[in-house]
Amino acid sequence: MTQNPSLMLPEALCYSSANTNGLKTIRELATFRFTCRRCEDAPCIAVCPADALEKDEEGVIMRHTNLCVSCKSCVTICPFGTMMTDFFIHHRNKDLLYDLCDHEEARKFVEACPPGTAMLTDRKENPEEHIYKLNEKVLIREYIYETEKE
Ligand code: SF4
Ligand code: SF4
Repeated sequence: MTQNPSLMLPEALCYSSANTNGLKTIRELATFRFTCRRCEDAPCIAVCPADALEKDEEGVIMRHTNLCVSCKSCVTICPFGTMMTDFFIHHRNKDLLYDLCDHEEARKFVEACPPGTAMLTDRKENPEEHIYKLNEKVLIREYIYETEKE
C-alpha cells in the first residue's frame, strides 16, 4: 500500500471512546509493539479488505483507523493473538480526539481516563522500573504480577 501521510495516525494523538475512556489507542499500540511477531508475509495485511494495515519501519503492524471497517478478518487470521477483537469496536471519531502536544488537551485526556491510569509526566524510559517509551509522547509502565507459592 502506498503510504499517504494524511492517513497516518500521529504519534501524539489519542482517542477516547465510550467504553475505554481514552486508553484504546494506547493499549492497541502497546499490544502491537509487544506481541506482533513482524511476520515476513504478514497474513493480516493480506486478508484486510480495506488496506488498513501496514508495517512501520521496524516491521510492527499499525492500523489506519480511518480505513478500518471493523470486519475482524485480521483477528481471525493472526496466529499470535495480536489482533484483539475489542480494538475494532469503534471507528475513528474526530470529536473524541485529544492532541497530546497541546497541554490543555492532554490534561483533558488524563481527566477522561479512569483514575490513576494516565498522568502527565516528564519521566524518561527506564526499563529497570518497567517504564517503556511507546512513542515520543507516551510512556507505559508494565506491572509485574507475581503469584505467591504456597
Ligand atoms: S499476523 Fe499478527 S503477528 Fe503477524 S504481522 Fe500480522 S499482527 Fe503481527
Ligand atoms: S478489522 Fe480493520 S484492520 Fe482488521 S482486517 Fe478488518 S478492516 Fe482490516
